[in-house]
Amino acid sequence: MGPSTLTHLECSNCGRQADAEVLQTVCPACGKVLLARYDLAKAAQSLTKESLGRRVHGGMWRWRELLPVRDAKNVTTLGEGNTPLLPAPRLGAEVGLPDLWIKEEGLNPTASFKARGLAAAISRARELGARAIALPSAGNVASAAAAYAARAGLPCWVFMPDDTPATNKVEVLQYGAHLVLVRGLIDDCGRMVRSQAEKRGWFDVSTLKEPYRAEGKKTMGLELAEQFDWTLPDAILYPTGGGTGIVGMWKAFQELEQMGWIGAKRPKMISIQAAGCAPIVRAYDAGTRSAPRWEHAATVASGLRVPAAIGDYLILDALRQSGGTALAVTDEELLAATGQLARLEGVYAAPEGAATVAAFQYLTASGTLTPQDRIVLFNTGSGLKYQELAPAPDAPVIEPDDPALDALVDAAEPRARR
Ligand SMILES: *Cc1c(COP(=O)(O)O)cnc(C)c1O
Ligand SMILES: [Zn+2]
Repeated sequence: MGPSTLTHLECSNCGRQADAEVLQTVCPACGKVLLARYDLAKAAQSLTKESLGRRVHGGMWRWRELLPVRDAKNVTTLGEGNTPLLPAPRLGAEVGLPDLWIKEEGLNPTASFKARGLAAAISRARELGARAIALPSAGNVASAAAAYAARAGLPCWVFMPDDTPATNKVEVLQYGAHLVLVRGLIDDCGRMVRSQAEKRGWFDVSTLKEPYRAEGKKTMGLELAEQFDWTLPDAILYPTGGGTGIVGMWKAFQELEQMGWIGAKRPKMISIQAAGCAPIVRAYDAGTRSAPRWEHAATVASGLRVPAAIGDYLILDALRQSGGTALAVTDEELLAATGQLARLEGVYAAPEGAATVAAFQYLTASGTLTPQDRIVLFNTGSGLKYQELAPAPDAPVIEPDDPALDALVDAAEPRARR
């Protein structure tokens, strides 16, 4: 495999360049998001559609030329990426969208797509000499950070709101990370991480506050192009919190176009948020390029409980430039959609992923999506992590060999005639 062709970092706001060979957080000049830049002509020498096709193993690291890690020994992997793109004909028929697909990210290590971002960020942080990593988290990112830090042999500090789901707390502790539970919100945790990180030399891997998590998430866009044989779908529905996935995929499409692998056509990028925390939807509707903080954020979909996103302008640009939109669904709707997706397609989605399914009724009614469109929804995580949200099991209980069994089964499934 060819080496990384990373050249420098560039501010997405003021355009200032920054050195990619030292640990960087946000733009030193304006405090906005730094993006990684590559020598794409050089990448194209070893990364071709043919060579990629021969790289059967390696998950997202098959795209190594377009990722930031220079030395293979720093690649910290648990097998992330290369997730299936599943046709969804039964759900598609029910919602009137016959060309519907699911990118199933729940199969990643630690059961969410956060694995991609943290694999990239922690690998590169390790390469650049980070001694410990730290981050605020209200959910899946904590699990991924703790797992990849363990794999890299780096200490990890996680600051979590006290009310984070129990599964994430258990995982963080099992992976041997330090866990601090804060009686507050995710931004309170973020402030605490920043002050400690400065004092102690921890490297802060908060969403878009370092350049490489987005690079890991970018591989979702690269894979999608490959899986559709170098065409892109008409629309992508993406449950949006901090927005690394949207920003990363949008960047992936630009890089692929610059390499001549795809054309200028872009999918409508559609952000789905929860009604109890929808800063991007509000800003999209207001026509602004920044999304003010959402007060009293509340939703069961913890990955969507992000009141303020540092990359708001990048998310909103991608939605608008692609002719996409942003839409919020209620917790009640997204929880009902979890069952619908599981029953019809065998995919037990995280509530964030299911939120995209809940949005179909609105997007078809408004004409944003039509039956001719090829549509991909992202299931960003596994529903198995959210047991406390699942309905209580409701199944018959009987004694062994109880003769009532026949009647019980008949009631659910009448006997076929012989
Ligand atoms: C973090 C998370 C999201 C939001 O992802 P962003 O790319 O930060 O917007 C969505 N779904 C799940 C399951 C998550 O863990
Ligand atoms: Zn800047």
